[in-house]
Amino acid sequence: MADTIFSKILSGEIPSHKVYEDDLVYAFLDIGHLSEGHTLVIPKEPAPSMDQLSDESAAAIGRVLPRICRAVVKATGVDQYNILQNNGVRAHQAVFHLHFHIIPKPNEKEGLGVEWPSKDIDHEKGAALAAQISALI
Ligand code: 5GP
Repeated sequence: MADTIFSKILSGEIPSHKVYEDDLVYAFLDIGHLSEGHTLVIPKEPAPSMDQLSDESAAAIGRVLPRICRAVVKATGVDQYNILQNNGVRAHQAVFHLHFHIIPKPNEKEGLGVEWPSKDIDHEKGAALAAQISALI
């Protein structure tokens, strides 16, 4: 897999403000934060997107993500936050090493701004699609 800026952070070639590390997971502050405490949580495995992540790394991230969220909440004093995980250029991914953003939302202006252009589901299509996805898991 291609080297990314995050591989260089993991190897120590590029410095980072580390907040957590174990055998499989690393977390550090985002250099271009949307709010103070904006943290990135990455697997050490260089998977570019969620669908390419091993179950082992996924479990390791899942185990620690709530703990890191609790620490960010306590350290910032901000109890509302978004977790964002982008996959692909169209989905706003810029670094192709999978990462979760933990983004404190201290007020309306800072943190993540979310547009949510929802449409009503077509239940017939939804039932077919749910069955198709379910059969592929
Ligand atoms: P994406 O758009 O891929 O989900 O987000 C990538 C994030 O990585 C951005 O929020 C950006 O600020 C952050 N980032 C990019 N380069 C560096 C870096 O060298 N160090 C740190 N700490 N964060 C970075």
